[in-house]
Amino acid sequence: MTGLLTVVGLGPGDERWLTPAAAHAVAEATDLVGYGPYLDRTPERPGQRRHASDNRVEVDRARLALEIAAAGGRVTVVSGGDPGVFAMAAAVFEALEGGDPAWRSLDIRVEPGVTAMLAAAAQVGAPLGGDFCALSLSDNLKPWEVIEARLRAALAADFVIALYNPISRARPWQLGRALDIAGALRAPATPVILARAVGRADERVRIVTLGTADPGAADMATLVMIGASTTRLIERPGGGNPFVYTPRSYGAGP
Ligand code: SAH
Repeated sequence: MTGLLTVVGLGPGDERWLTPAAAHAVAEATDLVGYGPYLDRTPERPGQRRHASDNRVEVDRARLALEIAAAGGRVTVVSGGDPGVFAMAAAVFEALEGGDPAWRSLDIRVEPGVTAMLAAAAQVGAPLGGDFCALSLSDNLKPWEVIEARLRAALAADFVIALYNPISRARPWQLGRALDIAGALRAPATPVILARAVGRADERVRIVTLGTADPGAADMATLVMIGASTTRLIERPGGGNPFVYTPRSYGAGP
């Protein structure tokens, strides 16, 4: 088979955070496949076909991309952030595993991108300087009991925790529940970062504490980060946002 399927991450939004490799795969594609708002972030090119779809049909979208590649197309599947983090790369491999065996001989590539967690961390300082983990709070694809068990384990292990998919209209209570669980296991003064639309024009990054974090202040474009016991602030004169960082050594004082 001669087709090529590349799964790319466009980064969080700012063009400066789009890798040259991802931009190249977008520019060279005969077909672009992705969720509409991500496709809207890529420049229109004459002759290039665009297959926009709804957010919830990832595996159908992945199958379509594999079919186009199997027919000889050069198809690029676009995701936000990194394509391997709660995104389309895994959906492509799910479709590959369950699909036409001939698809397995296709040239399939994944180009990494800047994931929301890394962009959010960079906006505030270095909160991921120690050990950390990432959890999706979406219970669309896994039961809430699994999410809660993982959250409790991460809290017990004193990881900095990045929460993706914290809240949506269809999932209104999960973030409040997660913050309640964290609040029972970590100090109220623990820094919490609410990083919304990082790298986009409507970016808003707030630094609050676990004791005061309001789940209503987050939406589906927000990355929520809960500090570890060692995560702390460096206040700055003039009332600007403090730096948030986690030292590399565990238990190190200032
Ligand atoms: N593949 C993406 C994540 C997809 S899951 C990545 O690597 O970033 C979608 C979730 O990612 C959102 O609910 C939000 O928690 C987070 N997210 C994506 N883009 C973001 C951005 N620009 N700013 C803050 N959070 C973002």
